[in-house]
Amino acid sequence: MAETVKVLVPEEDVAKRIKELGEQISKDYAGKQVHLICVLKGGVFFMCELAKRITVPVSMDFMSVSSYGDGTKSSGVVKIAKDLDETLEGKDVLIVEDIIDSGRTLYYLMDILAKRNPKSMKLCTLLDKPERRVKDVKVDYVGFNIPDEFVVGYGLDYAQRYRNLPFIGVVEGVE
Ligand code: 5GP
Repeated sequence: MAETVKVLVPEEDVAKRIKELGEQISKDYAGKQVHLICVLKGGVFFMCELAKRITVPVSMDFMSVSSYGDGTKSSGVVKIAKDLDETLEGKDVLIVEDIIDSGRTLYYLMDILAKRNPKSMKLCTLLDKPERRVKDVKVDYVGFNIPDEFVVGYGLDYAQRYRNLPFIGVVEGVE
């Protein structure tokens, strides 16, 4: 069977939900500046679209993490591959992620970032798989709760492919 991608969340639904999240965040951060932290690479597409929907002042920074694991699951012990350029001291930080699965990566990452004295720190994810959670991570904004399936698109890859799909999909026909 040839490898195909089945649509799980269509492009229009993703766009509509990101607009709603942007409106909610703009309300919650009224009178403040929100400092968006993008976790590369998966979070890039989501953060760009979300940032355009936020009406309060926005600044942004990028970081890249890799987790030591056995290849099939993340151990959660996070190694910072690319650190932030700017300090978090006194900032209202909003971490923007593509997906939260076991929660291990974010659990450790938030622990590291909290030590840098942000004024506040919240978490926003496009996708959440709550039934897979191992570490208790408080998620403040969720685009979609999805079932336990391996998804691609909107920044998410399968062997570095499919990140550019404008919808969320599931790869089928993989041996
Ligand atoms: P966690 O530490 O929460 O288990 O893992 C989070 C990371 O695993 C995500 O940032 C993402 O890179 C990867 N991941 C988890 N589920 C999926 C999925 O369904 N599709 C893709 N492409 N990556 C996933």
